[in-house]
Amino acid sequence: MNEIVFKNVCKNYGNVEVIKDLNLTIPSGQRLVLLGPSGCGKSTTLRMIAGLESITSGDLFMGGERVNDLEPGDRNVAMVFQNYALYPHMTVGKNICFGMQISKVPKEEREKRLKEALEILGLEPFRDRLPRELSGGQRQRVALARAIVKRSPYFLLDEPLSNLDAQLRTTARAELVKIHEVYQPTFVYVTHDQVEAMTIGHQIALMNENVIQQMDTPDVIYNRPVNTFVGKFIGSPSMNIVTAWLDGGRIYLGETSAPVPEPWLEKLEGRTEVKFGLRPEHVQLSEKEGDFPCQVIYVENHGSRKCISFQVGKESYYMMTEADFETHDQMWLHINWRRAHFFDAQTQRNVGYPQW
Ligand code: ADP
Repeated sequence: MNEIVFKNVCKNYGNVEVIKDLNLTIPSGQRLVLLGPSGCGKSTTLRMIAGLESITSGDLFMGGERVNDLEPGDRNVAMVFQNYALYPHMTVGKNICFGMQISKVPKEEREKRLKEALEILGLEPFRDRLPRELSGGQRQRVALARAIVKRSPYFLLDEPLSNLDAQLRTTARAELVKIHEVYQPTFVYVTHDQVEAMTIGHQIALMNENVIQQMDTPDVIYNRPVNTFVGKFIGSPSMNIVTAWLDGGRIYLGETSAPVPEPWLEKLEGRTEVKFGLRPEHVQLSEKEGDFPCQVIYVENHGSRKCISFQVGKESYYMMTEADFETHDQMWLHINWRRAHFFDAQTQRNVGYPQW
């Protein structure tokens, strides 16, 4: 149907390789989020789908057809950018209908689609206003409405919510998901914001340094990161990842050590140096004796929770908790082994997880 497939796609600007051997299948009707730090190649990937960037080598298929040489106007895609560029002299209604007029959609059908889009996005009261008479959030909704009425089987969005304030972004995310569920186009969404990615994507393709590091559901990306980059990129504050040593069935964090449970020992057999990962939200500290003695260094109040910075030996870690702690409290770290992650010290790749 409307699946998008990249086969061994490379993109160079002059001598600079911006996309390296991209193999990616976006199933028809799914929401895929391209996530990653600035400059990793997300927009370039999206723009290749739209036909706004040429493909240096490899093949791109849309709906089963090879589209490398197809003009943007012939690809039947709807795009929404961060900069939504509405026509300033046209009302909301006219802005939304303009594309349909150009492509000669009959008047009755135009009216029907306009009405529907205004309703879905709560824009009915603003139909006759000019863009300058709208808030940023309302303008962004007009840009979305303009894309929806095209009824394209492909919906491409490049950081569409970046200009909105935090509260509006939350409601806009929900709106986007709602819109997708009504029309179910194949949906590709570019962002550097992990919260957007987690809340919007059926699948996330997390990119770094011009390659996809991991593509999977938000749950798997969060719970089973394939390497330290993915582990650190998803989650806030980032996963604690420290160098640890294994010896005699024990794990050493600096000079202190604790026993490692049997299932993990089997998984880690033959290793001495490893990277040990623990998410701040999975850290447990208490006064009761546990695995590692530690000291609370700093307490930051985030309102609903507190971010606690603490040290085991010389290494600093973070914990997110609802509990109260005082700076300089002497505590014990209790490792929740079912929430622990281990990565290879050299390759940084995840070593896998035991069966419990
Ligand atoms: P992202 O969307 O992840 O921020 P981009 O896809 O925009 O990244 O860019 C990927 C890389 O390609 C960046 O290093 C960027 O500087 C480079 N790049 C993008 N467009 C051009 C261009 N027209 N000419 C040369 N380099 C470019």
